[in-house]
Amino acid sequence: MPRDADAAGSGPPVVVLGAGYAGLRTAQECDRRLRGRVPILLVDRHPVHILRTELYEVGRIARAKGTSAPWAIPLDEFLRRTSIGFRQGTVTEIDLEHQRVYLDGEPLTYAQLTIALGSVAAYYHVPGAAEHTHSVYRFTGAQRLGAELLAIARRSVDLPGERRPRVVVVGGGSTGTELAAEIAGTDWGALAGGIAARPMEVVLVTGALPFLAGLPAELIDRSRRLLQAAGVHLLYGTNVARVEPGRLHLDDGSILTAEAIVWCAGLEAPPVVARLPVPHGRGGRLRVAPTLELPGRPGVFAAGDVIELTDPTTGVPVPATAQAALAGARVAGGNLAARRLGQPLREFRYRERGVILALGPSEGAAAIRSLTLWGAPVRLLKRAVERKYAGAVAQGEESRVL
Ligand SMILES: Cc1cc2nc3c(=O)[nH]c(=O)nc-3n(C[C@H](O)[C@H](O)[C@H](O)COP(=O)(O)OP(=O)(O)OC[C@H]3O[C@@H](n4cnc5c(N)ncnc54)[C@H](O)[C@@H]3O)c2cc1C
Repeated sequence: MPRDADAAGSGPPVVVLGAGYAGLRTAQECDRRLRGRVPILLVDRHPVHILRTELYEVGRIARAKGTSAPWAIPLDEFLRRTSIGFRQGTVTEIDLEHQRVYLDGEPLTYAQLTIALGSVAAYYHVPGAAEHTHSVYRFTGAQRLGAELLAIARRSVDLPGERRPRVVVVGGGSTGTELAAEIAGTDWGALAGGIAARPMEVVLVTGALPFLAGLPAELIDRSRRLLQAAGVHLLYGTNVARVEPGRLHLDDGSILTAEAIVWCAGLEAPPVVARLPVPHGRGGRLRVAPTLELPGRPGVFAAGDVIELTDPTTGVPVPATAQAALAGARVAGGNLAARRLGQPLREFRYRERGVILALGPSEGAAAIRSLTLWGAPVRLLKRAVERKYAGAVAQGEESRVL
């Protein structure tokens, strides 16, 4: 188990909230700069680093046992190669006035702070969406969905006639797309122990926003074709009006019934962040300066999905991706140390290095520089990138591939 104690040293520590992509990298960069001279404390509700970018693999997750699976890397493996301390707890309040955070109601005073608490599903006040849909934004959600899909596969052998079990995925961004392709391409019968399960019928409700908005046109076109080849039906241009158990009401008046509904329609800041008395952007995200510091709050930084920032040189919003979280965290961690040492701060400039989509267990599509690539080798490349990142975290090293 990781150290459930304060970092070594005296005085209030530098505190990093969240041990996801942004938090881990922020703590690592800060530790590299401060070299044990100042206590650094990493806080998370779990003693593991969850590989959130891989949570679309719901079939493999369902078959894996507990959190010993490769999607959850024990933090102690990472921490013992650093001088970073760890405290397990849920952040229930952040008090910027008094430089305190509350973990399960217990106060913890900080000297400097980085908020890297990620994001949660946004339901946009759609009635029934939170109650009657699955989500893969968290490991436990992906586990629940995987288990449910296995149960559906087992029940499918008793379905009348030619009927196939239907799964509806809501949200035409990268997560919904990857998940729909994964569910359609998975051999659920084999996973359920070699039974003659019927293949799932997967419908991807892309909503009123353009499908895969923001990605290069050729990548979108290739992804659409690969989804269709995998048997995913795409439903464009309609939003979800209401959800009931097993029933999705669309705003054109039509109704879709389904054995399972998955919500991948968007993200927002966690409530503990959204209620902070500071400037917020869309979905309660924190508006930050290009140094990733909160305006008017010296020594308080934010990184990852929790921020809203437009790159001042390109005018392009920084996306909510692990790639951007890691790049931003390098700057946040350096600036956290710089504030402590009284040094000047650096500004964050985001350059996208490429996008790789997994489109089923053995297909993928990517846009890297000006090239669009697709097919089985792209899927293998995605897996290699994911393994390289996971290996680096387990070794306490920095991987720049993700
Ligand atoms: C299925 C899926 C596929 C994706 N694929 C890609 C991809 O291919 N490439 C890519 O770049 N991005 C991808 N993303 C997006 C990427 O996962 C996120 O952008 C990234 O996780 C953001 O990092 P973060 O550190 O901000 O948040 P997270 O990684 O979510 O980390 C937040 C941390 O904060 C902790 N936490 C939250 N609230 C509290 C609290 N109140 N108290 C204590 N701890 C708390 C959590 O336990 C977690 O450890 C994908 C996302 C999903 C869901």
